[in-house]
Amino acid sequence: MSKVTGYRATDRPGEVELVGLTRRDLRPDDVEVRISHCGVCHTDLHALSGSAAGRGGTPLVPGHEFVGEVVATGPAVTSFAVGDPVAVGNIVDSCGTCAMCVAGQENMCVEFPTLTYGGTDRVDGSTTLGGWSSSYVVREDFVYHRPPALDPAAVAPLMCAGVTVWEPLRVWGAGPGTRVGVVGLGGLGHLAVKLAVALGAEVTVFTRTADKAADARALGAHRVVLSTDEQDMAAAGESLDLVIDCVPGAHEVGPYLRTLALDGTLVVVGHLGEVRVDAMDLLRARRRLASSGSAGRARTQELLDFCGEHGVTADVETVPSAQVATALERLGRNDVRYRFTLDLRDLG
Ligand SMILES: [Zn+2]
Ligand SMILES: [Zn+2]
Repeated sequence: MSKVTGYRATDRPGEVELVGLTRRDLRPDDVEVRISHCGVCHTDLHALSGSAAGRGGTPLVPGHEFVGEVVATGPAVTSFAVGDPVAVGNIVDSCGTCAMCVAGQENMCVEFPTLTYGGTDRVDGSTTLGGWSSSYVVREDFVYHRPPALDPAAVAPLMCAGVTVWEPLRVWGAGPGTRVGVVGLGGLGHLAVKLAVALGAEVTVFTRTADKAADARALGAHRVVLSTDEQDMAAAGESLDLVIDCVPGAHEVGPYLRTLALDGTLVVVGHLGEVRVDAMDLLRARRRLASSGSAGRARTQELLDFCGEHGVTADVETVPSAQVATALERLGRNDVRYRFTLDLRDLG
């Protein structure tokens, strides 16, 4: 066991404190990553505010989109060497043998993938502790090479927010000649816009407030539709092939479904709860309603490679990890453009 430091939930909802933690000794196929930056995701906020979730016995250390450098490798590791720039996302293991894993969708492993924090290690049964920490020990199969030329702080959010929107863009074929809509311009949405533009698609952003239009265009959007304006929405009818819906709360999807052209698909990635749909909105134009979450190993590496080639990163506000409380409080008010990353090098 090695001694490290990290931010663990306290008994008070939404609060973390810096404590000493232990990481396991390297197994043959393990890599130890010294973490430089980790994103602050809505999932972290949710986990920390949950009713005593992860507290009272089970330690909760958030953080599941981090980057750093390999500092040690187990004897069976073949893909990484000490000094490699790497990234880790929201899963750190899976069964490897089920139909989903065999299909490269480890994120949907039927035995449930091991989450980066709050998961149960498949070997020793311990609870996984996340990336708001000075280092992490992880199987090499769930470590990814990151483009060294990109700002590591801005790469970290690609590992959760990025893959979450990359998967539907790739599954539903966003590219030259396709028309992609993005609903909700936050951590997920701003990356959906950048990635869809980089893929060569024509991108429309739906926003509720006119003052976000300039932001959307700055991210590369070709068209902005004011979703609160019925005329604007009606004019956008049947004009898109794929809509990525990143709105985090419950909302009506009908208005966005109606912007889809023949055989178009609306993919809900923000609100993972009940969705009400009028089948007539599906019948007209033979539309489809879908969802996806995160991505498998191959597609995660594909995203990082693509971002390296196209210079795509998240728009981040980086703060020393000592300011994690401020980041959490501001994220709770959606006061960030568009993602916080913690600089964990202050942990020494
Ligand atoms: Zn996340
Ligand atoms: Zn599996």
